[in-house]
Amino acid sequence: MVANQSWIDGSSVDVDESADFIVIGSGAAGATCARWLAGAGHSVIVLEEGPSAQVTRGDGYELTTKLLRDGGGQTTRGADAIELIQGRCIGGSTTIGNAVHSPFPEREWRAWVQQDVRWAHRLPWDALAQVRDILDAEQAVVKTPPELWGPLGQAFLAGFPGQAAPTWRSAPNCQGSGRCMQVCPLGAKGSVDRTMLDTAVLAGARVYAQCRVDRVIVSAGKATGVVGTFSSGKKGTWMAKRAVFLALGTLQTVALLARQGLVVRGPGLQMHVQAWVAGLFPGVVDGVGGTSVAMETHAFRDEGLELQSIRLPKAMRARLVPGVGPALVDRLAVQNRVGSFSLSMRAKARGRVAATRDGSAVHYDLLPEDRKSLLRGVSLLSEAMLRGGALEVWPQVHGAPCAVTSHKQLHAIEQLSPDPGRMWLTATHFFGGVDVDDWFALPGISNLVLADSSVFPQSIGVQPRAAIQTVASVIAGRWASV
Ligand SMILES: Cc1cc2nc3c(=O)[nH]c(=O)nc-3n(C[C@H](O)[C@H](O)[C@H](O)COP(=O)(O)OP(=O)(O)OC[C@H]3O[C@@H](n4cnc5c(N)ncnc54)[C@H](O)[C@@H]3O)c2cc1C
Ligand code: SF4
Repeated sequence: MVANQSWIDGSSVDVDESADFIVIGSGAAGATCARWLAGAGHSVIVLEEGPSAQVTRGDGYELTTKLLRDGGGQTTRGADAIELIQGRCIGGSTTIGNAVHSPFPEREWRAWVQQDVRWAHRLPWDALAQVRDILDAEQAVVKTPPELWGPLGQAFLAGFPGQAAPTWRSAPNCQGSGRCMQVCPLGAKGSVDRTMLDTAVLAGARVYAQCRVDRVIVSAGKATGVVGTFSSGKKGTWMAKRAVFLALGTLQTVALLARQGLVVRGPGLQMHVQAWVAGLFPGVVDGVGGTSVAMETHAFRDEGLELQSIRLPKAMRARLVPGVGPALVDRLAVQNRVGSFSLSMRAKARGRVAATRDGSAVHYDLLPEDRKSLLRGVSLLSEAMLRGGALEVWPQVHGAPCAVTSHKQLHAIEQLSPDPGRMWLTATHFFGGVDVDDWFALPGISNLVLADSSVFPQSIGVQPRAAIQTVASVIAGRWASV
């Protein structure tokens, strides 16, 4: 990993340029595409709406105001109001991510091929496996070592005996400060600004930050460039000699297409939905070392559940502390003894993304079986937290006791009716289900390439960054080679 940070932060003049490839978005997909396209000798311009990533010295609120789209305040439209968390900065969501790497599961790829045999030649497994190995090496993906498990990771390990395992992460120099979501203060995390974008810049790519792309220029059924606006108000026009790559993140990619009236077909949006369980431990579990996400278990993958230990910024953790009046004050006074576990549930529901004037409206209603899965996940996490040593566990489920101290009390959670609105839910993993042609272009518009997980026909059930980078690599590699 290198760190030259030589992108161009905004502009005080109008810009009019051209390149072989224009890439919109500098996150997992965009930065990875730029790395392969520029690496193959093509001229590349990357346009990123957000600013250069800055380490937030404060807490969760500083993170939301500086680095999140809409301050993290956007929710789905539907019965469940799921908070949609997306990075809006150089490096995209990886800059505020936990750097966990889960390889694209081969069985998911097989399921894609079974449903539509074209995936076999669009994304040959051998090609995916080859770039996965290159990316893992370039991004120094390593297993979280015992000294970085911290008390919370140890509690998760004790909570899931024989089922928990350390995470694999791109953070080779991690010191366990547990502040990944606020941008690594030590530069130890392999967010793609450090692993991919820097490499692209060294190979000649130009990267503009604080430049929002407003629309793609389409002429005679062909994408020929893009028009954007800098945060200074200055305008930019970038013409693409070869292709325009959309890597805005699934929700924004689909919204941009919809805003222009371009027809998007396909089975529609899926997401992984996250919920949290917190608890009070007898000793200090936060602020005494341990990386952000040290432990996970795949034991419940067949049920669509991924479970992890997670260190949250203090302000976010405070949100999980129950009670009012003196009970709340007492619990907040010992916040460093509060730990949290999270679940990521592979929702079966499909939704859709519509454009608003300058953003997206996400219509998504969980199915009753999805809500049942969430209750199951919370029950599993709560039980594990008690087993892992918590004095009391806070399941965060409306209708369940707010503080649980015995395994007996937990059985009631899974018996609750799967009504909407029982939990605080968030989502950070999106899969667009947008139909594309064999060049990953929008059918009917040549040279308009969708390069992020908007093209994934369904969710994948694991942390998606590695899969997104792997797929983006194959897409960019194909365009780079002709
Ligand atoms: C808090 C958090 C923690 C996470 N932790 C993990 C983890 O540990 N492991 C894992 O595998 N996954 C994790 N993820 C998910 C992972 O980061 C994302 O799935 C992945 O980054 C998505 O890649 P992307 O390129 O599609 O979008 P992003 O990485 O979000 O990048 C899209 C970029 O496009 C830019 N953009 C959007 N619209 C425009 C426009 N009009 N003009 C110009 N630029 C635009 C955005 O500002 C953004 O920077 C996490 C996500 C979050 C939010
Ligand atoms: S846990 Fe701390 S040191 Fe490690 S990668 Fe995250 S922010 Fe950096």
